[in-house]
Amino acid sequence: MMKMKKTNNGTKAVWAGEKDYLVHGATQVPVVLSVAYGYDDMDEWYEVAVGNKKGHIYGRNTNPTVQAFEDKVKALEGAESATSFSTGMAAISNTLSTFLLPGDRIVSIKDTYGGTNKIFTEFLPRLNIEVVLCETGDHEMIEEEVAKGCKILYLETPTNPTVKITDIKRMAKAGHDVGALVVVDNTFATPINQNPLELGVDLVLHSATKFLGGHADALGGVICGRKELIEKIYHYREINGATMDPMAAYLLLRGMKTLHLRVKKQCENAMKVARYLQTQELVEAVFYPGLETHPGHEIAKKQMKDFGGMFSFSVKGGVETMRQLLPKLKYANRAANLGAVETTVGPSRTTSHVECTPEERALMGIPEGLVRYSAGIEDVEDLIADLEQAFQSVSSEAKV
Ligand code: PLP
Repeated sequence: MMKMKKTNNGTKAVWAGEKDYLVHGATQVPVVLSVAYGYDDMDEWYEVAVGNKKGHIYGRNTNPTVQAFEDKVKALEGAESATSFSTGMAAISNTLSTFLLPGDRIVSIKDTYGGTNKIFTEFLPRLNIEVVLCETGDHEMIEEEVAKGCKILYLETPTNPTVKITDIKRMAKAGHDVGALVVVDNTFATPINQNPLELGVDLVLHSATKFLGGHADALGGVICGRKELIEKIYHYREINGATMDPMAAYLLLRGMKTLHLRVKKQCENAMKVARYLQTQELVEAVFYPGLETHPGHEIAKKQMKDFGGMFSFSVKGGVETMRQLLPKLKYANRAANLGAVETTVGPSRTTSHVECTPEERALMGIPEGLVRYSAGIEDVEDLIADLEQAFQSVSSEAKV
């Protein structure tokens, strides 16, 4: 018999997860808005309610459209199981709350997304959970801290916004040596570019709001991993209630059908724009793992299929230059979002790390004049021409 080849992620983005949810011969998954599911047979109702039989009871627990979304992400990440949330932050907070108890210790890095960093610095310590934040990219330091024992090793790679890279395989080993759960936020990379479960971690999560949905019109979060772990996280979420909305699930599901195409174009555009920015006089530094000068370039090459659609750059003259430059761009939304089909730019001090003080941002290596750039799927010549005219007008204003 001919051996079936493993299905690639582009095909999975289009097809995976949907078949079980199609009804009436429809080729697309329906949006099931019903809050509750009715049963005439009291025994069947009971069996479904206690989980002995497949089915749905109440929308806070499960919903067919939401499950189709989970099944597609599960296939893309090559996971046994997945569960979803109302937002990416809910995925992070619910996962941490599922496993961490007072007295536990968690090791992470300084450069996680601002909201995640707030959980580490504000909310976990008040529950008597010790949080150790290591220098991002300092693998020896992370290994040393992990070796002292921890319940969770939490990573994000590439990081938001300075796109620092951590060696996932190496960190998975360090975590497992002390019996820790290793969790990776894969939002920036997407499952098209990086599959942390294949690299040995236990749980991979996404803000589905970003690249997975890709159209900046639906919020969501998702986590994938072994069934026994996901069941625990699902249970925490079903009781605490951060459930994904079925309409959001539908929009995210539809967005994911083009995930591979969008991400491919976004990677190409990010690389070309980053290289262009390196040649600009007003640009101080460009942070993109695809550039040979990036300290994480070699590790990124090893663990990522492509370098992603996200980068950041700092400008000479800091906030003042940024204040002049960004409003001049025609083909960019100035907004606190990323991963959309439209190019999106924003100062990190106003977007990803608005929750942090300038001192905290400085500690994370985020200059006040840092611009986060999420490459869209436009024609790259237009994006470069747009930046060119913006730089020219800033320079001429500066000369006046
Ligand atoms: N993780 C990363 C890397 C992010 O960039 C974000 C949001 O910007 C989140 C998590 C949180 O996601 P959400 O806004 O969907 O709660």
